[in-house]
Amino acid sequence: MRDNKKKLNLTTRIVIGMFAGIAVGFLLKLLFPDSILVEGYLTKGLFHVVGQIFISSLQMLVVPLVFVSLVVGTCSISDPSKLGRLGGKAVGLYMVTTAIAITFAIFAAVLIQPGAGVELQSDATFEPSQAPSLAQVIIDLFPTNPFSAMANGNMLQIIVFALLFGISMALVGGKSGDRLKTFFDDFNEIIMKLVIILMNLAPYGVFALMAKLFSETEFETIFSLGKYFLLVFFVLILHGVITYSLILKGLTGLSPWTFLKKMREVQIFGFSTSSSNATIPVTLETVTKRLGVSNSIGSFTVPLGATINMDGTAIMQGVATVFIAQVYLVDLTLADYVMVVLTATLASVGTAGVPGVGLIMLAMVLGQVGLPVEGIGLIIGVDRLLDMTRTSVNVTGDAMVSLIVAKSEGELDEKVFNDAEADLKERDVSEQL
Ligand code: ASP
Repeated sequence: MRDNKKKLNLTTRIVIGMFAGIAVGFLLKLLFPDSILVEGYLTKGLFHVVGQIFISSLQMLVVPLVFVSLVVGTCSISDPSKLGRLGGKAVGLYMVTTAIAITFAIFAAVLIQPGAGVELQSDATFEPSQAPSLAQVIIDLFPTNPFSAMANGNMLQIIVFALLFGISMALVGGKSGDRLKTFFDDFNEIIMKLVIILMNLAPYGVFALMAKLFSETEFETIFSLGKYFLLVFFVLILHGVITYSLILKGLTGLSPWTFLKKMREVQIFGFSTSSSNATIPVTLETVTKRLGVSNSIGSFTVPLGATINMDGTAIMQGVATVFIAQVYLVDLTLADYVMVVLTATLASVGTAGVPGVGLIMLAMVLGQVGLPVEGIGLIIGVDRLLDMTRTSVNVTGDAMVSLIVAKSEGELDEKVFNDAEADLKERDVSEQL
């Protein structure tokens, strides 16, 4: 019986889960706006529980996956100078793409003027938290205790420890090195299987997250800041589709269409979790298994990108800075704009890819050009949906840079990249369970 039924593939099921969740959320809000039952049993009950378990399970995999796959990846790079080159390329590309994103956003905002005519509301409040200094960010790259780095999920510290560990493993070589390598290889395979199992549960998780969110979103706030909201949204989409396509085609000759098509699940995971960090397992799986990037490049560039590369966030910051300047009637000079680009690009380093962090970084940017940090209070109400959208752009940027680095290093399997079916069968665990 089962064989006769045409099964939907995983991507389609996840997409259906997302749209069904959005529809159910809207309907609940429309039909039962004040129902205590709906709230108690569904939005704050079932949907909340399922959604949170889904996010927690993703997060659960991040630390072991990043550590193990990076150790495996690093010890297969026998030449340590190659690591330095890789790091340089990845960080350089991450910075340049972020700078392009924010410049694009500033241009768009200066042109469209989203803040013109917006009334300054006196109840706008935002408490900025202290931003770390650049020196501290650099010192903090090195863990004093790798276990506490893992316990706290400090991605950059985990990356540094894994790199050093992997290099040492390669240098030791011989029996001990090989024994441990086999152990890590096996460990990696098992964690990857867990990632795939979780992806198979994504249609339910994504459904629950969307249903909860959309049944709770106050759309009135969005309408009142419609121009700002739509501008950030459109610049995000344009950057994610057009700028990335141009960069990818220009630097690698690869088909942007194939890339974007294969990135759909990753983008939905980014969208529904609002966290590049929680999306790492899916990004890594897609980059290595569906896009053909070697494990040694992907395991390094993906977690690094999820932590330091935030093009979507930079876009929000660019538009928000110009918006706040317009609302507060402050004229920004060209030097101010350059300052915004530099600060936002540097600020993204060392800030974890978790929900809402972009606003904290925005406080730093505003402070640099003397704009009132309370301006953030104006846009905080519409940030949730924008956070989701920009996280999709952030994760797409991570994968694109990974592809470019892999291609330039001769570590891209183009057969896998061009194979529309690559990894699709392996991803479907329903046959294996
Ligand atoms: N949520 C974003 C991310 O995880 C960061 C942000 O813009 O707040 O990539």
